[in-house]
Amino acid sequence: MKCSAGFVFSENTLNYHFHEDHPLNQKRVMLTKELLEAANLLPSQSIISPRMATEEEIALFHDIAYIQAVKKAGKSQLLESEALQFGLGTEDTPIFSNMHEAASYVVGGTLTAVDAVMQNQTMHALHLGGGLHHGFKRKAAGFCIYNDGAVAIKYLREKYDLRVLYVDTDAHHGDGVQWGFYDDPNVCTLSIHETGRYLFPGTGNVNERGIKQGHGYTFNLPLDAFTEDDSFISVYDSAIKEVAEFFRPDIIVTQNGADAHCYDPLTHLCSTMKTFEYIPKIAHEIAHDYCGGKWVALGGGGYDMWRVVPRAWGQLWNVMQEGQHLTGKLPSSWLKQWSEEAPTTLPEYWQDDKEIVSIPRKEEITEKNKKLLQSMLKYTKKIM
Ligand SMILES: [Zn+2]
Ligand SMILES: [Zn+2]
Repeated sequence: MKCSAGFVFSENTLNYHFHEDHPLNQKRVMLTKELLEAANLLPSQSIISPRMATEEEIALFHDIAYIQAVKKAGKSQLLESEALQFGLGTEDTPIFSNMHEAASYVVGGTLTAVDAVMQNQTMHALHLGGGLHHGFKRKAAGFCIYNDGAVAIKYLREKYDLRVLYVDTDAHHGDGVQWGFYDDPNVCTLSIHETGRYLFPGTGNVNERGIKQGHGYTFNLPLDAFTEDDSFISVYDSAIKEVAEFFRPDIIVTQNGADAHCYDPLTHLCSTMKTFEYIPKIAHEIAHDYCGGKWVALGGGGYDMWRVVPRAWGQLWNVMQEGQHLTGKLPSSWLKQWSEEAPTTLPEYWQDDKEIVSIPRKEEITEKNKKLLQSMLKYTKKIM
């Protein structure tokens, strides 16, 4: 299947930069773009330039007081004590110059992707600079200042009146988006992540189900540490299909963090590239089966920016435009260009070697995840 897809990108993405030693480095977006260009998979007419989100748009989700604090922080005009109340100036989310402007571009990129899809410019749209799912209404957290996905969902609700399915496969719980729509029956969130027992942000239990009118529209699958491809793929496949059938969305928004990979330095899941080939394929099917193709995909976490993120996001893009994942060797020009700067040996193939993961407790973990899936899926059968 060949579909029209838009790739939202501008060099402005690189301005979202905390400091040199921070784990989040948006250079991974550029590395992905260049990988795709070197492989002749990203024609220039597919690239869409993002706009900056207006303050009014950001305020669809975030409190005005918080936006003002971010603005002041970025101009060094905010007292430390005041900044900390808004989650700004922490180790995870430090203050940097012009952070409001940089974060507004992230939101703008995601809104640009939404508009491209809603105005029939493209059927699917991708914004890899986005997916900052830990941003709260009045608080920064976990490397996220403004929650572009949440702003975009509000925008879809208010401007287009659509029922939105948000699917988050980042290794961390998609907490900011979940709590933002916890009482909203028109937004269904499904987050598949490593259990919060050992990992930030600690939430995302299967019993977090939504409240008031929104009760029954929140789904969580907190996977065991060391979950590998087969188990991840199997529970993801059932979860997304059953939740989509239960909710019947008008549009799907996916957060495609690439930190469930076994190489990722911040998490304990053990996926290989196989998982990242599979995730977008099923999201793509759902988009066509339920939403007339309407699909907005975002980036997210991913802290092995050399070996993992460019390939994982390259696969995502290729599924969006071709419906297929890529195989074979990475373009030698890209490998040559970056091998010196990369602190590790770059992989030469789109696929990972099977040998990179070996999990001693595979059966036990698979069984645990299966049980978890069953307890989550019972909620798709009826709304209580
Ligand atoms: Zn398609
Ligand atoms: Zn993450």
